[in-house]
Amino acid sequence: MAIYCRNCGKALADDARFCSGCGAQTFPPAPSSPPYSASYPASVTRLVRPRAGRMIAGVCQGLANAYAWDVVWVRVITVLLAVFGGGSGLLAYVIFWIVMPEEPIVFPPSPPPYQPPTQP
Ligand SMILES: [Zn+2]
Repeated sequence: MAIYCRNCGKALADDARFCSGCGAQTFPPAPSSPPYSASYPASVTRLVRPRAGRMIAGVCQGLANAYAWDVVWVRVITVLLAVFGGGSGLLAYVIFWIVMPEEPIVFPPSPPPYQPPTQP
């Protein structure tokens, strides 16, 4: 693959430092971009317990949201593990309950609470 002089457009050898036609310096090829994986998630998955759609503490819903799982299957597996897994499902649920932060409260737009006027 030949390179071309940016000054005069003359085709040059790949390793040419200077143009043989005009003497302009040829620029080295752009350095390879630093190791960057396009598949790396732009934002770290936030494992939170959502306030909407929860049944007990929102653990199953939070896991389903974080990993795009079906919340029904998450609950089914959790219950099966809790019933048949010697309580491992229940233990895992409690652990997730403790470690997973709760989703921040998003206040719905509502009128301010009524406050009776203070009498002078
Ligand atoms: Zn040139």
